Amino acid sequence: MSLPLSGYRSNNMPDVALFTRDLRVADNPVLVASGEGAIPLFVADPLTESLSRSPNRMAYLSESLVALDRALGDLGSSLVYRRGDWLSEIQQVVKECNADRIHVARDVSQFAQARIASLRRNLDIPVIAHSSITAVNLTALSPASASYYQRFTPYFNRWISAPRRCVLPAPSSLRHHGLEQHAITPTLLDGTSPHRELGGEARARARFGTWLPHSKSYGSSREVLAVAGTSRISAALHFGEISALEVVQAAEEYGADAFVRQIAWRDFNHQLLFHRPDLASKDLRPDTFQAALDHVSVDAWKWGRTGYPVVDAGMRQLRATGWMHNRSRMLTASFLTKHLLQDWRIGARWFQTWLTDGDVANNQLGWQWVAGTGVDTNPWRMFNPTLQSRRYDPTGSYIRTWVPELADASVHQIHDPSSSLRDSVAYPARIVEHSDAVARFKNRKRRTYA
Ligand code: FAD
Repeated sequence: MSLPLSGYRSNNMPDVALFTRDLRVADNPVLVASGEGAIPLFVADPLTESLSRSPNRMAYLSESLVALDRALGDLGSSLVYRRGDWLSEIQQVVKECNADRIHVARDVSQFAQARIASLRRNLDIPVIAHSSITAVNLTALSPASASYYQRFTPYFNRWISAPRRCVLPAPSSLRHHGLEQHAITPTLLDGTSPHRELGGEARARARFGTWLPHSKSYGSSREVLAVAGTSRISAALHFGEISALEVVQAAEEYGADAFVRQIAWRDFNHQLLFHRPDLASKDLRPDTFQAALDHVSVDAWKWGRTGYPVVDAGMRQLRATGWMHNRSRMLTASFLTKHLLQDWRIGARWFQTWLTDGDVANNQLGWQWVAGTGVDTNPWRMFNPTLQSRRYDPTGSYIRTWVPELADASVHQIHDPSSSLRDSVAYPARIVEHSDAVARFKNRKRRTYA
């Protein structure tokens, strides 16, 4: 079922279309509701500037903003880009153009929710928050006894037939606003990944369009580490260059059920964080066990020198590309939290530093799922990296790509080089033995429940 978009109106007083992380002109409820005279505004505030700690995301955002400005230009308008305090800059633009209303995408993090609340408190014009970042409205689904879901399966059972709004075409034209323009200067920072993805709505749509026909085989290819079996649209979804709703609708036409289910996971995480923004740093199921910080092991993990090739391949893929395969995210996160008994927040921060798709809802809740403090119903699951490596990288080509020291290892040696190759290649010895790690982890379980 499709719901009509509420709030559309056209009059002489302009509405501000406030862009945050919905950097697209297609299927953008904020832009459409703002009407033909929309003032498209983006404010680079201190939060945006703090992305300089995540050069891949900062670079991607800059490219995305430049592309948005161009796309708005093609429609007859342009992006009003301001830098400074979010509230003051918006107040200033509202004054300059005598705006009637502000439209913005409803978002989930504590910071994003507080920003919208501050607009409502401080402006004397309506601030309308639209459902734009998820396929199903963040507040549309709740179980009988609570206001949000904590378990995925019951959520998904309702999500799959939940009412959705219509997918909206890009406006055919916009009026030019004549406000003062500030140049959007792409921020090129040191420390970006050499093989990172580039931002921009048209690029994202092209990438997804090329991949879409393969979505039918996603169920069988998504777990093979060496194969490009997944869509690689996570950064585009994070920055809203393509809407989750449009992605779901397109994939459904291809019968790509397994893929659609993953977008539902994204919606699930977002509704959870929307209702529990504290989960960005707090455990959903608090873990009483505290392990000491082990800098040496954490560093070996960060730089891909644990001696477990599949773990190291994932960590090196992360730095080289700003992206990591989902299976590798699970394996590397599990290794840090369960083999090394380190706090998930250390790993989540490192991922946020490098991931172009770094997203508070998916990253922090993904980490909690793996660490066993989140929504996983089996928090004591522990992956055996060597068995996982044989299963998901059977030929070893994923490892060979990212761990060149092992390029010449045979398929029998590559998953467990510590036994047969230790003396012949410059690859680190294991920082922990799997059997010892399992014993420590089990011991932890006993102490947690003692
Ligand atoms: P595809 O497999 O093609 O999936 C399509 C989309 O579905 C993804 O782009 C994503 O939006 C969503 N999706 C897929 N898997 C998941 C999942 N397990 N949970 C929630 N949504 C999912 N995803 C992020 O977008 N940003 C993050 O910062 C992030 N951090 C993660 C950290 C950990 C420890 C784990 C275990 C997972 C994390 N994920 C994160 C989820 C997932 O790994 C990525 O979304 C996926 O690998 C992105 O690649 P893709 O676009 O090719 O995914």
